[in-house]
Amino acid sequence: MGTDAISAPVTGLVGRPVVSNATRVVVKAGSSSLTRPDGHLDRERIDRLVDCLAERARQGHQVVVVSSGAIASGIGPLGLNRFPRDLATAQAAASVGQGALMSAWSAGFARHGLVAAQVLMTADDFGRRVHYRNAQRTLRRLLELSVVPVVNENDAVATDEIRMGDNDRLAALVAHLVRAEALVLLSDVDALYDAPPGTAGAKVIPDVWSLDQLADVRVRGPGSPVGSGGMRTKIEAARIASGAGIPVLLASADQAADALAGRQVGTMFHPAGKRRTSRQLWLAHASSSEGVLVLDQGAVRAVCGRGASLLPAGIVSIKGSFQAGDPVDLSAEDGTVVARGLVNFDSSELPDLLGCSTRDLAVRLGPAYEREVIHRDDLAVLVREAPGRENEDRE
Ligand code: GLU
Repeated sequence: MGTDAISAPVTGLVGRPVVSNATRVVVKAGSSSLTRPDGHLDRERIDRLVDCLAERARQGHQVVVVSSGAIASGIGPLGLNRFPRDLATAQAAASVGQGALMSAWSAGFARHGLVAAQVLMTADDFGRRVHYRNAQRTLRRLLELSVVPVVNENDAVATDEIRMGDNDRLAALVAHLVRAEALVLLSDVDALYDAPPGTAGAKVIPDVWSLDQLADVRVRGPGSPVGSGGMRTKIEAARIASGAGIPVLLASADQAADALAGRQVGTMFHPAGKRRTSRQLWLAHASSSEGVLVLDQGAVRAVCGRGASLLPAGIVSIKGSFQAGDPVDLSAEDGTVVARGLVNFDSSELPDLLGCSTRDLAVRLGPAYEREVIHRDDLAVLVREAPGRENEDRE
């Protein structure tokens, strides 16, 4: 990812006011910050967090909460002795926990005369235009009505294939959906370190201006027994949001007041890209691929370098079984996935078309075949620099 739109900071303080000044902010709280080790909600911590968010609302700012903790708070009431790893039990726990979680948020905000609203979403909702628009309209209306939306993944219905699993990615997509000016990720870790916390000499990284800066940083997955994310998914969420132009602050839930006040805490991921379309964001980060189209170097360059549609002439081979309309990965011949897009043909139709120009196909098979394999509007480029450019032999 490039540093194009960003100039180097003068001091570490640059950027934090973006969070305190944001008139619309999305705040995500992780499971370990909202629940106790006994598998029940930690109402005290929820109330403390609500106090900070209510203060923000009192200043006339709009707040959207993304709350984890449904599964973790279903553990106690169900008498389970550990975090469920099988999907059905996790979904059952989430169904139990989500009710309690929502009631805690509602009661917390009611202490401040504020109304909270539950919004449950799946990854699929970000890819279906009608669902996406409806969710956007609902959230917008809730905010106009001065309600605090509390969003979570709809764990009870999301299947393994479409499940996001962690709420970090969900929070980034929600921040994009509501056009938030800042995203705050609160967890049990106070910042991103240059080595796993606990490692001797590990230092906080206060500002991230480009993800290239993190090339040598070693991160871990879930750090607590109840959270499903860990630092890896936080960085991924920060990549999604900052890459779409939204600044992201990573801090611990205990630092929520300081984080929201723009004080020098946590790690700030500064915006490193422009807003993308919702379809591109879903394609790149929330859809799951049903197959792979392997492209020659010319096609990689056309798609990644020039943002062109993908034509049959540039496809070398295909893998997997998919139907027209499915998301598929586009890879270079060395296996690097360079883009993802919605394919216009079934996998059974494609072998006959590979390497042919659209004009030849129209003559041979009829005008219905004179179309792109993937239209540029249905493509999300994942790698800007086309690999093997220096060996380019075909336009
Ligand atoms: N939707 C999950 C829950 O509420 C998220 C789990 C997590 O991100 O830790 O339990």
